[in-house]
Amino acid sequence: MEIRELPLPAAEMKPKYTDESQLGFGRIFTDRMLLVEWKAGQGWVDGRIQKYGPFSMDPAALVLHYAQEIFEGLKAYKWADGSIVLFRPEMNARRFNHSAERLCMPTIPEEDFVAGIEQLVRLEKEWIPSAEGTSLYIRPAMIAVEPVIGVKPSDHYYFYVILSPVGAYYSQGFKPTKIMVEDKYVRATPGGTGEAKTGGNYANSLKAGLEAKKKGFDQVLWLDGVERRYIEEVGAMNMFFAYGDTIVTAPLEGTILNGITRDSVLTLAKKLGLKIEERRIDVNDLFKDIRDGKITEAFGSGTAAVVTPVGLLGYRGETATVADGGVGKITQTLYDTLTGIQTGKIPDTFGWIRK
Ligand code: PMP
Repeated sequence: MEIRELPLPAAEMKPKYTDESQLGFGRIFTDRMLLVEWKAGQGWVDGRIQKYGPFSMDPAALVLHYAQEIFEGLKAYKWADGSIVLFRPEMNARRFNHSAERLCMPTIPEEDFVAGIEQLVRLEKEWIPSAEGTSLYIRPAMIAVEPVIGVKPSDHYYFYVILSPVGAYYSQGFKPTKIMVEDKYVRATPGGTGEAKTGGNYANSLKAGLEAKKKGFDQVLWLDGVERRYIEEVGAMNMFFAYGDTIVTAPLEGTILNGITRDSVLTLAKKLGLKIEERRIDVNDLFKDIRDGKITEAFGSGTAAVVTPVGLLGYRGETATVADGGVGKITQTLYDTLTGIQTGKIPDTFGWIRK
């Protein structure tokens, strides 16, 4: 797939941020974006890198009414030696196509997905921050733009990629989060779209998130949608519990996202000599095991924060503190090792880094 680079006069470029400690998350965007269209009968056409800016879209565009949309999230890092790397981008390409199939959207060759991102990141390399913990967040997305008021798969799509320099998630150090197990609302059901990275899953989660915040929690931990009993995942993280040197996480059965950090954590944990179990976890057993001290650590995994310690869980008005509520040894080791590999401080023996 050929991607043209449209000229961008220096006068039209934005002023860059000056303080990497003030970047925050996802509010600043770079000068350019990648845009490729898909048209029925033609396939992928007119790939270009152009000035970042609003799309022109018909008010009847399918995505605006029926949410035919998918997206991804990954990061580029600038290493101390100046090299620029991506972390497992081919996994995002694969998951993107998996989501596309579920939403009846066209797939994109994995190598084109990765090459397009590389071409854009290379052009925008001046935007990549380099302070400890910072990175360039990459957001690929696909939207249905055919203007028609009728529920059907679109015959016209935009695949686009935007970039956002992001700050250190833990600029003040690790802070264990408080998580509420949700028993009123449901995120996903078997046969639904839980495993796809599609906007509807996130729109659907807003109400539970707001109600949990009002009760003093940071995020929601979803239960399965059938029995409302088994632990699934957190808003944008997969969830892990350590029973001594065994770490347990929910299995991939179609209702949770197949997290790339989840896969990396499981691979690393094995390498570190930990035992891993992918199995259903009953919420009642979970609370009992936390109170009995059998669960020694709890943490979430995801691209944004990498590994997030969980210090307290709430369920039906009761709370339980995990061990001493602080950051456990396994959580810290996994965080240090994964971020070490991503930033080039620890050699990558897994083939995860793409320079
Ligand atoms: N679950 C959900 C619902 C998510 O949105 C995310 C973030 N992409 C994750 C899990 C973690 O996935 P990853 O490790 O690939 O970022």
